Amino acid sequence: MKDFFYRLAYKFQAFMSGRNGNDALGYFILSVYFLISLFSVGSQNNAVGLIRLVLLLLYLFRFFSKKLSSRRNENQAFLRTVEPIRAWVVKKFRRLQKQKDYKYFKCPYCKTELRVPRGKGNITVTCPKCHKSFDKKS
Ligand SMILES: [Zn+2]
Repeated sequence: MKDFFYRLAYKFQAFMSGRNGNDALGYFILSVYFLISLFSVGSQNNAVGLIRLVLLLLYLFRFFSKKLSSRRNENQAFLRTVEPIRAWVVKKFRRLQKQKDYKYFKCPYCKTELRVPRGKGNITVTCPKCHKSFDKKS
């Protein structure tokens, strides 16, 4: 029995060699597919069903595809597109974590985002970018 599964795994590995498999874009397509599936449980909407089918076929097509350079280019383009969004989410999340230690605001002169430690009373802030000073309650 153990042998059977080993052989099966080996066969699958051999079958997948030279194929794209999973990448970031693949995981993204699959995630969208599952999210839509989750929110459309029991729905009889044909359009939603069609979108799900297209997503699944797209995922499978990319997973088994042997045109590695094309798939890699798609994945790179996807990563380039989502990078600003990812960076924005990470930044907001980090800020939320540090909210109780730091106060965040924009420089009134050049709109650069600044932060000061909380609880220091009224302080004079000098913007590191435009070097202008202003008072701020911390
Ligand atoms: Zn400034």
